[in-house]
Amino acid sequence: MTTKQSKALYQEAEEHILGGVNSPSRAYKGVGGGTPVFMEKGDGAHLFDVDGNRYIDYLAAYGPIVTGHAHPHVTKAIQAAAADGVLYGTPTVHENRFAAMLKEAIPSLEKVRFVNSGTEAVMTTIRVARAYTGRNKVLKFSGCYHGHSDLVLVAAGSGPATLGSPDSAGVPAAIAEDVITVPFNDTKAFDAAMDRWGEEIAGVLVEPIVGNFGIVEPEEGFLEHVNRETHKHDALVIYDEVITAFRFTYGAAQNLLGVEPDLTALGKVIGGGLPIGAYGGRQDIMEQVAPLGPAYQAGTHAGNPASIRAGIACLEVLKTPGVYEEMDRLGAKLADGLQTSAQKHGISVTVNRLRGALTLYFDTDSVRNYDDADNSNGERFAQFFHGMLNQGINLAPSKYEAWFLTTEHVDSDIDETIAAADSVFADMSSG
Ligand code: PMP
Repeated sequence: MTTKQSKALYQEAEEHILGGVNSPSRAYKGVGGGTPVFMEKGDGAHLFDVDGNRYIDYLAAYGPIVTGHAHPHVTKAIQAAAADGVLYGTPTVHENRFAAMLKEAIPSLEKVRFVNSGTEAVMTTIRVARAYTGRNKVLKFSGCYHGHSDLVLVAAGSGPATLGSPDSAGVPAAIAEDVITVPFNDTKAFDAAMDRWGEEIAGVLVEPIVGNFGIVEPEEGFLEHVNRETHKHDALVIYDEVITAFRFTYGAAQNLLGVEPDLTALGKVIGGGLPIGAYGGRQDIMEQVAPLGPAYQAGTHAGNPASIRAGIACLEVLKTPGVYEEMDRLGAKLADGLQTSAQKHGISVTVNRLRGALTLYFDTDSVRNYDDADNSNGERFAQFFHGMLNQGINLAPSKYEAWFLTTEHVDSDIDETIAAADSVFADMSSG
């Protein structure tokens, strides 16, 4: 497969755009480098690059593309929105309709607000929790990514419960000191942190099903415990459902798991591929937000009609009976095929899967927290990634990310992917 045009465009990009990319993970740093592929067109489960190569796509733009690329229903909604003018700076009927749809799908959202990204959504839930409780500290779980606002760019410490240090230059140490980090699925470490800092904690920030060190589910009773202990200390539970909402079911992970947070942050899927974020939760907490309350949040593009209409259309597609069951069936087939093939070639893999999302880890037995994922073999993953890309399979360029199926993947895509993996595993075992 040739990627001549991508190489030339990447050189050009490096002249104009810092690092050649507008989001760092696109630079293939996590897979030992290489030239990022410049995509030109998407259609259903497939992407086409500037050299004319076709890929089966499992990146799904890091999650938002759950109805496939250029789904006709979503495309029509975006075209209609463009024809009506894309921004008025006034309320529209579409926002009402979409807010009602979200509330119906996720009952813990008594009130919602739309913003423009997952980063903004999470950042604002933290502000609201601080305003409501009058406290400053936030507890998060190691390795969970919650966007790039100062407060959540905090490194996971190696101890069981750690006060944070900044994970990025430019984040003041004083801000990071307000963040406590504990390993996911570790009730003891969580309790120790709550015993020590519970009275200072405004909110506990949780990816109820982790998507940022691969797909990692909470262990039996873990989220219930987190809720109980957090509330005992009069702090709020905030679910970051930016990846998980509408990914596994029509609704959020909280619907699947039967545990309700006080506040929820949303993004990705709910924009049908256009930029969006949203947050919401209990009425009395949301009343902290301006214009009703003293916590400020605003946005020129917040609730813009194009993103909202794309989101409505996307959710309409996802409401079709059977779509999540089909992604589950294909996800199981893919996971089984990958495992069987790896085993045949003597390659050690572990697959974590929930419905249409999975992660393939190399050389590790089980992954239940960030350290487990971190200990998986990144060099093996990098080899696999580049091999798959060369076979026309587009994965996320990082051992920590998930593969995402869409409503448009079909059996032949899965068969082709397993065959590609089989030849890559064969190369890996002989090389
Ligand atoms: N929260 C989670 C769980 C995420 O995975 C992400 C993005 N990967 C974000 C927040 C930030 O969203 P955005 O990139 O839209 O700002």
